[in-house]
Amino acid sequence: MPDPYLDIGEMRALLDSGACSASELCEQHLKRIARLNPKLGCFLRTHDEPARLAAKQADERIANGGKSPLLGIPIAHKDLFCTKGEITTCGSKILADWRAPYDATIVERLRQAGVVVLGKCNMDEFAMGSSNENSAYGPVANPWDEVRVPGGSSGGSAASVAAGLAAAATATDTGGSIRQPASLCGVTGIRPTYGRVSRFGMIAFASSLDQAGVIARSAFDVAFLLRAMAGFDHKDSTSSETGVDDLEALIETGESVSGLRVGVPSEYMASLKSAGYGVALDEVRRELEALGMRFENVSLPSTFAAIPAYYVLACCEASSNLSRFDGVRYGHRGADDTSLESLYTSSRSEGFGEEVKRRILTGTYCLSYGYYDAYYKKGMRVRRVIRDEFARAFESVDVLLTPSSPGVAFKRGELAGDHIAMYQQDCFTTPAALAGQPCLSMPCGFEHGLPLGAQLIGPHFSDARLLAVAIAYQQVTDWHRRHPKL
Ligand code: GLN
Repeated sequence: MPDPYLDIGEMRALLDSGACSASELCEQHLKRIARLNPKLGCFLRTHDEPARLAAKQADERIANGGKSPLLGIPIAHKDLFCTKGEITTCGSKILADWRAPYDATIVERLRQAGVVVLGKCNMDEFAMGSSNENSAYGPVANPWDEVRVPGGSSGGSAASVAAGLAAAATATDTGGSIRQPASLCGVTGIRPTYGRVSRFGMIAFASSLDQAGVIARSAFDVAFLLRAMAGFDHKDSTSSETGVDDLEALIETGESVSGLRVGVPSEYMASLKSAGYGVALDEVRRELEALGMRFENVSLPSTFAAIPAYYVLACCEASSNLSRFDGVRYGHRGADDTSLESLYTSSRSEGFGEEVKRRILTGTYCLSYGYYDAYYKKGMRVRRVIRDEFARAFESVDVLLTPSSPGVAFKRGELAGDHIAMYQQDCFTTPAALAGQPCLSMPCGFEHGLPLGAQLIGPHFSDARLLAVAIAYQQVTDWHRRHPKL
């Protein structure tokens, strides 16, 4: 049986040479999930029969000379993407039995690329959280240390990739939900430029911030998946016409990174609590310098304001987006339907978890008459300032290097009850999300045996360049090739 930690290129070679079939690869992954998922909790459901069928079809296509980089590759979807005819819960009880009537655009595109979907991954309810402890279906364990969190909200996606349960997994990032779990689990994840990947069929949290992306075991694998997912979609009015040619070029011919100017924002480094993390990032700097990149310090003075602005704006948008869950047309229907009002109240009180309720209340408050200017409007102004600061920084540098999270994975329960401390986990990820910049996290070392992640942030639509830097870095380091013993 092949190694569960093969990268996609290695799986491709096995499949194309006939050394292993897509069906065998699929079975191996389903077996591993059956063995490890009871303790890790990464998958909410596996799609055994549909996966076997897709693998069989991939084998037929391969036998007929079919050539596609992702043909027969086993992946997983975050349970926030609609998958036609399959349950899609978004980590919430309110959608416990809901079957999506259509596929998300990225689900459709990846299927056309020939992937085998093993199942759906656990997540914080409605993607609200940084530890996966807000899932209505139980926590996810970090594969490096099972008493610790995998990060969130895409905790199931990151942990399943880190544990060798899937070659890659789709994920979403509103304020850090791809990069922070990728960092805590020692895998690579990209939040593409806002608009680069269609949001159609993604259950909305905060629409002006939500972006779909991917987590995999290497930057090259991330590029493969992103190429298949990205591009204009007429079903998402915010999706961009900018093509995927740069990703194509990156994968086919590579991109030189020598001569790139890298900025290190002093505000990020100043708020880093851990000395070991700083040392690991210095090491990244040395590796990138050896690859011909030049470093300079930059300043992003309003970084400190990103968390308050993000939590005001994200809650405002969530309060509006989540009003559709009312027990009338779909989702959980509350026990008390004696009046329309009581139906709404009982459905929402029973269906939503505590954190989701907290955010709906916060958002509703911030948008209400008399408070709108003080909160929502101010949040939007701060967002503009943060965006302008990034634009200014990118006049003198091509990419920014920062930490991805304040430290290594924390213990389950450690921040429970302290919402502010939990929100602080997003201090390095919310600024780029507010500004719509592409950004990624890649493994860059360990502290106390737990993975650390380095974040790269780039100008809008520089996704391919960020991946080029990460690919070059991963060619000269092997942090991404370290795996937990399970
Ligand atoms: N942790 C952040 C939050 O709780 C980000 C979540 C996300 O990106 N979906 O909102």
